[in-house]
This record gives sequence, C-alpha cells and structure tokens, in this order.
Amino acid sequence: MTIQTLPSVADEAAALLDRLGVPRAAWTGGTLPARSPLSGAEIGRLPETGAAEAETAIGAAHAAFLAWRDVPAPRRGELVRLLGEELRAAKEDLGRLVTLEAGKILSEGLGEVQEMIDICDFAVGLSRQLYGLTIATERPSHRMMESWHPSGVVGVVTAFNFPVAVWAWNAALALVCGDAVVWKPSEKTPLTALATHALFNRAAARFGGVPDGLCALLVGGRELGELLVDSKLVPVLSATGSTAMGRAVAPRVAARFGRAILELGGNNAAIVTPTADLDLVVRAVAFAAMGTAGQRCTTLRRLIVHASQYDALLPRLKQAYASVTVGDPRRPGTLVGPLIDAGADAGMTAALEAARQDGGTISGGEAVAVSGGGHYRRPALAEMPGQSEIVRHETFAPILYVLRYETLDEAIALHNDVPQGLSSSIFTNDLREAERFLSASGSDCGIANVNIGPSGAEIGGAFGGEKETGGGRESGSDAWKAYMRRATNTINYGRELPLAQGVSFDV
Ligand code: NAD
Repeated sequence: MTIQTLPSVADEAAALLDRLGVPRAAWTGGTLPARSPLSGAEIGRLPETGAAEAETAIGAAHAAFLAWRDVPAPRRGELVRLLGEELRAAKEDLGRLVTLEAGKILSEGLGEVQEMIDICDFAVGLSRQLYGLTIATERPSHRMMESWHPSGVVGVVTAFNFPVAVWAWNAALALVCGDAVVWKPSEKTPLTALATHALFNRAAARFGGVPDGLCALLVGGRELGELLVDSKLVPVLSATGSTAMGRAVAPRVAARFGRAILELGGNNAAIVTPTADLDLVVRAVAFAAMGTAGQRCTTLRRLIVHASQYDALLPRLKQAYASVTVGDPRRPGTLVGPLIDAGADAGMTAALEAARQDGGTISGGEAVAVSGGGHYRRPALAEMPGQSEIVRHETFAPILYVLRYETLDEAIALHNDVPQGLSSSIFTNDLREAERFLSASGSDCGIANVNIGPSGAEIGGAFGGEKETGGGRESGSDAWKAYMRRATNTINYGRELPLAQGVSFDV
C-alpha cells in the first residue's frame, strides 16, 4: 500500500490563506501563535488587537449601526446574499483551513462552511420576513401593533470547535436585522476567523456603501472578550464556549442590563429502548460520539441502554470503536482527528482515570501515534455502574459513558439528572415512548430527537439548550428576535381619547 505524502501543515495553511485573500501581515510577525492540532506546529503568529484599538472598533461599529439600521432590511439581505456567494466560491479552501486549524476531518470542515452558506440563505429570506403582530385593541378607532427594530452592536465570542459557523449563525441574522457585529474568535483558531473576515470584506466591497466598521474582528484572548462583555455600546452579547466562561460572562452582562445569548457546554445522552433498531443505533452513536473527536457541544456523551438490549449492543459498539480510523484528518478514510491541544488530552486522561475509580470498565482511549505529532486518541467507551460525578461533567473529548436501565421513568430521570441541557435522543419504535420523551415530562433539553443522534443540527431550527447550557437560541426558527428590540405601538385614528381599562381623566 502506498501512503500518500501530505504537504506540511504550515505550507498548506499559507497557501490557503493567500488564496482566501488574507494579507501576510495579518498572520505573521505578531504575538499570538496559531497552532495546528494536526501536528502541534505553529502555522502563524498574529498581531493582536490592543485594548484601545478594540474600543475604537466597537465605537466604529456603533457608528456603522446608526447608518445600517436605516437601510431597508431586504437590501441588508443583499449583503448577506453576497456573503453566501463568497462562501460558496471559497468553500473548499475555507473548509480545508478549518481542518488544519480545528482538526476536523475534511467532510466536517466542508460541512462547517456549508452551514455558513445555509444560514446566509436563511437570513436572506428572513430579511423580507421580520414580521410583527397586529393586536386587537380595546379602544375604538385605535390600532395596536408591534415593530421590530435593530438593536445595535452584537458582540460575538466564539469557541474553537466551530471556529467559523457560529460567527455566521450570529452575523447573518444580526446583519439582516440591522445590527453591527464585533467578533472575538477563539484564540485557538484565529486564522479561520481572518479568512472569514476577508470573505466578508469581499462581499462588502461588491455590495458598495457598507458603513465602515460594520463587521469587526478582535484578535486575541479572553480580555478582548471581556471588553465586549462590559461595553455599554454592545446591547447583545452572544457567547459560545464552556459553562465556566458563561458563568463569568452572564452576571457582567446582566449588571449593565445587556442581553446575553449563551451557548455553553452540553452533556448529551441517548436512550436505547427495548424496541430500538440497533443497526440505526450503532451508526448514529458512531457519528454522534466519535465524530469531531468528541469535540462538539452536541457530542453524545452518555448512552442509557435498556437491560434487554445491553448485551446485543455493547459488542457491536466495541467493534465500531476498535475499527474506526484515527489519524491525520486530511487523509480520506480518517474518521477521528486530533484533540485540540495538550490540555484536552490531559482532560481525557484524567476523566478516564476518574471513571475507573468510580468502578467503570474502559475500552479504547489509548494514545495513537501519528507522524508529525499532535494529540490523537482512540475514542473510549466507559461502562459505568452508575451516573457518578465524572459522568455528570462535560469532558471535551471522545468518551462515551454507558449506563444500564430497567424502566423508562428511570432512564428519563438519569437522562435529566445532569447540570447541562443541550441535546438528547431516544431510539425507539414505540410511539408511546417517543412521545413521552418529547413531552413536558420527558427530555429537559433544548433539542430532543427520535431515532437520530443528538449531534449534527440543521440551521432551520432554533439551536441551544437549557440549564447550564445557558438558555440561548441561535440560528433558525424565530431566533432572530434576540437580535432586535420590540416596540409596541398604539395609534389613535379617531377624534376621542378613550383611556384603557375605562379610566377617566377629564381636564
Ligand atoms: P472556552 O470557554 O474556553 O472559550 C470560548 C471563548 O470564550 C473564547 O473565545 C475565549 O477567549 C472566550 N472567553 C473565555 N473566558 C471569557 C470571559 N471571562 N469573558 C469573555 N470571553 C471569554 O471554550 P472552548 O474550549 O473554546 O470551547 C469548548 C466549549 O464550548 C465546550 O464546553 C462546548 O460544549 C462549548 N460549545 C458550546 C456550543 C453551543 O452552541 N452550546 C457550541 C460550541 C462549543
């Protein structure tokens, strides 16, 4: 067998950045190292945005908003349509850069860019559908309605694992809603952010007349995120990342009466019932638990299996786990790429040790040597005697805890007995069980599925979760409302002045 030699990660990243139109000065000669998890190699060193420069960018975004809010929404949609065109044209290059910088396999890197294109399409349609209601009024010759107006600057803080799609979920909606956007991407994935911004700038140049500073990028660490969190010029702050980050951010935004959209950690489970189709389960679990090397907020982390299915399912899962190819995500056939860094690797080791101490039986989880370095691990299955503390904690790595249950009540109780509430699934062919899981007394998550895994959401639905996942909703459905302010308007077209609730006040 001949093994195809792959180009060096640094060379490939440089070629992609050139093609994507990112000037070399934006990613060389600075202080913030960009590393590829494929090998751990440094592939860029970015000049960081200083605090004063960031404040200036926020001020400029606010000024741009004052002009942008008066542009008719369908015209604003045209800018997002052009952004979608740029993304379509650059899909292959940006998708490969996501692979190099975040470590996703190629089809997932491309899928991430497709998700950006999809949300642009959605937002273009939305730009003609920012509807308010007309409401019956109790006063004669009056009309009552609600109007939706742009909010202002939307601050967007994003995580490493969806380095570009989460910006697009927010920015595409915010822009058609008449807002400006200031983005602080993860310090672990700044190159894909630069490339995305270059594509936005291309769309803006084609549009012509976009107010300066409408979309800004802040390159650097959490202190720049904190600046957005505390800025009174940022009425809406969308923050995606760990629950620890959300816990720090939420009270600070609330203290200045800003609005936070929080998209935080998950601890997603699937219940495998007595009637579940195990062929479906094995395929769904493989993608949901091992895909993206377990580094999705919606990754399947807990499998709650009925006792009658346990002995049939576990050997099949173990076989799938043992056979999956771990390696360089650029190679065709690789399904599991690297963990993002040494910290994630240490987190996986510590979690497996804790699971062992809690009486768990572990298969998989070993380090895999891949030429060139990086932190590669075989995904792990941890059969647990109960839902101990480590199972209730989100470890951002490919570990699937397996639990056994006897009754559906017990399964749902286990399912909900974690601090997080993002995504969930049930595998069943029993209508009663499916409906119970989706009912008010079923899954307590923001996303609940039947016969598909918890990961891999489409942009048409509202995305987000409850409890320590933060309660935010982004992307489809009516998530756009979080980016606008609502005004209730009452208009009197008569000659009298009747007061509501029959109050009289004659002067
Ligand atoms: P992280 O919390 O370490 O960092 C996320 C972002 O927050 C980074 O840009 C970081 O610089 C910034 N940040 C950190 N502390 C901050 C503070 N105090 N103020 C302002 N900004 C701050 O997360 P990560 O390791 O990059 O990503 C993994 C986590 O993100 C996981 O917990 C995962 O579940 C979660 N996630 C959630 C969703 C979702 O939609 N619910 C999506 C993707 C990732």
